Amino acid sequence: MNNKTIRAIKGTQDILPEESIKWQSLEDEIRKISSYYGYQEIRTPAFEKTKLFSRSVGEETDIVSKEMYSWTDQGGEDLTLKPELTASVARAFIQHNLGLISPVNKLYYIDALFRRERPQKGRYRQFHQFGVEAFGSEYPEIDAEVIALAISIFKSLGLEGIKLNLNSIGSLECRKNYRIALKEYLKPHLTNLTETSQNRFNHNPLRILDTKAPNEIKILEDAPDISDYWTNEDKTHFNEVIEYLEILKIEYVLMPRLVRGLDYYTRTTFEITAPSLGAQNAICGGGRYDGLTEMLGGKPTPGIGFAAGMERILLAMKSKQFNKNKVQIYIVGLGDHTRTTVIKLAQELREQNLITEFDLLRRSLKAQLREANKMNVKYAIIIGEEELESNQLEVKNFSTGNQQKVKLSKIVEHMNSLSF
Ligand code: AMP
Repeated sequence: MNNKTIRAIKGTQDILPEESIKWQSLEDEIRKISSYYGYQEIRTPAFEKTKLFSRSVGEETDIVSKEMYSWTDQGGEDLTLKPELTASVARAFIQHNLGLISPVNKLYYIDALFRRERPQKGRYRQFHQFGVEAFGSEYPEIDAEVIALAISIFKSLGLEGIKLNLNSIGSLECRKNYRIALKEYLKPHLTNLTETSQNRFNHNPLRILDTKAPNEIKILEDAPDISDYWTNEDKTHFNEVIEYLEILKIEYVLMPRLVRGLDYYTRTTFEITAPSLGAQNAICGGGRYDGLTEMLGGKPTPGIGFAAGMERILLAMKSKQFNKNKVQIYIVGLGDHTRTTVIKLAQELREQNLITEFDLLRRSLKAQLREANKMNVKYAIIIGEEELESNQLEVKNFSTGNQQKVKLSKIVEHMNSLSF
């Protein structure tokens, strides 16, 4: 490759045909199972006003403070490539008054996102998520439904050993009180915290609980538990979520330190991990965000959702075999006069939903048969000038080696009657 060759941007990936069949089968599974649960697809634009994310995701989060691809366009508008989907879906929900059309709205998406993170295995700058957002119900039934949907998709994809980590970060009131208690506890340890955590101490102390630094994990061992700050309603809500999960036989692990980085989360918080993935083992994160629509200027509406990283899911599915659509028929054409017959016949067979190829390089009989063999087709139709003249084509069955003459006028019907 010379230095004039333009390469893809760091942290972005081309999905080549070998890979795209995996994506298609993953997407099919997501669409199928989401529909069983009554979720409908929503598609939102690739970019939004920057303030949508700074307002909802929060200025202090890593996403907003350092990872967004933002620019001012020629009209002076501040715009950002979507770094996450919940804010966009909530914006669309408010903008189109979906809450007036139906009291409960259950939406899913499959989309590309952009974050300027340090690229590594399982972490990219353009990546894909599927997720759901359910608006309108504050009750724990929908928390359980959303979690059940995520688990059901991962199970049907054959992901093994997945783990559901669960917590409640309570209502806004609970979080306010817990924030004070956590800061009080951390104050004497402040100088021992990393710089990141020291910054979070003032703006977003709950995020310190996300730390991976061993000395901070140790410090946090004796920190107060958020469960001690739950209101009675928070407690009842969480207990009911757990009850439903048990009824649905969904295993979970209570994780009192599990918080979500984003500001609009309330109550139920969860994460699903796939241990086979190593360092980047989180495949799905979700939770309730009852405060979000109001924060974006809409009517207060409870909501819950999750987002799952598709690249990571595919990494976790590495051992799974995917079926490629196999070419079924190869038409071998010999000589200039056969070309129109070949292209017309290919079209007719394709219109009968038969996967058909023909030679595009004007090669010899031998080379075309070799190509058909390589494609592992079941049948080849051979059209030479002689066959054309007699209106009798040769149909070769590659698995038995048998060859049969079929009239040109009957060939489509004949091919349609075969089993592939
Ligand atoms: P988040 O939106 O940060 O809660 O992430 C939800 C899921 O998206 C994670 O569990 C990951 O599976 C996936 N994810 C997040 N960031 C990235 C990234 N930079 N590259 C690939 N996948 C990601």
